[in-house]
Amino acid sequence: MSVTVVGSVAFDSLETPFGSRERILGGAATHFSVAASFFTDVRVVGVVGEDFGETELEVFRARGIDTTDLQRVAGGKSFHWRGSYEDDMAVAHTLDTQLNVFADFDPQLSPAARESRILFLANIQPDLQRRVREQCHGAAFSGLDSMNFWIESARESLVETIRSVDCVVLNDAEVRMLTDEPNLARAARWIRDIGPDVLLMKQGAYGACMYTPDGFFSVPAYPLETVVDPTGAGDSFAGGFFGYLDSLGKDEFTERELRQATVHGSVLASFVVEEFGNERLQRLTLDEIAGRFEEFRQMTVFEPPVRA
Ligand code: AMP
Repeated sequence: MSVTVVGSVAFDSLETPFGSRERILGGAATHFSVAASFFTDVRVVGVVGEDFGETELEVFRARGIDTTDLQRVAGGKSFHWRGSYEDDMAVAHTLDTQLNVFADFDPQLSPAARESRILFLANIQPDLQRRVREQCHGAAFSGLDSMNFWIESARESLVETIRSVDCVVLNDAEVRMLTDEPNLARAARWIRDIGPDVLLMKQGAYGACMYTPDGFFSVPAYPLETVVDPTGAGDSFAGGFFGYLDSLGKDEFTERELRQATVHGSVLASFVVEEFGNERLQRLTLDEIAGRFEEFRQMTVFEPPVRA
């Protein structure tokens, strides 16, 4: 069992109400891989520059993530994103995006990466996502994430890529922007009508919901009193979701399994935002994940928890 993920592997410069960080390890594929690695084997496809050193690589190795398909371009510079958040931390404001080595990246996947049962096209140029999708014929379940940057600059290509996957992961603002439809239920239908069976809609501090052929499911966000840095919440959500599904060792999933995966996504997202970048996930344990999963279970049933 393994999950292959392609997406940005980056340096992020961030400013939140709790402080700022310059050039810390980030990127959609990075956050996804680390989150998914708690459940299954992960192979990351991407490209970095010469500025990407042993310290950064060690974060992947420490989680057992396979970096065979992470190319390093001599003399090149890694993807760099600069973003900031206001007090409610609801929206990430992009101040600068430098694609650098991703501008000319033409991935040729290793045989092992092509054979993964689950494929996730994390946030990156949609043409690039599609080139990876085309190489992974055997993927039984595939998903995709994107963002306003690509919806505005490469909409047609993104729609074509969406047609080729089973599950789309976007936040509510992105769903509205992509579909040009203010009503979210109608927007969800629009997306599912062009191909994907499943739409996972992230709603920031309000949690996430899922539209499937069997209906609708909603999961809250964990009620944290302090969110230090929301960067990577969406990718960690996706990592928890797809990583958990892969751990089941199946090609198709029941509604119940998809719902459990959604809760695992919310659990992983709730940890990553507690600290900057993926610092928190680097020391996360399976026991902590299980503990918070149980708390989520209590939050999504009618009966109040039995106190000892
Ligand atoms: P999120 O999980 O939505 O908070 O995603 C955060 C990550 O997305 C950051 O670590 C950034 O490096 C990455 N990112 C920002 N802009 C882009 C972009 N245009 N394409 C790909 N990745 C991006």
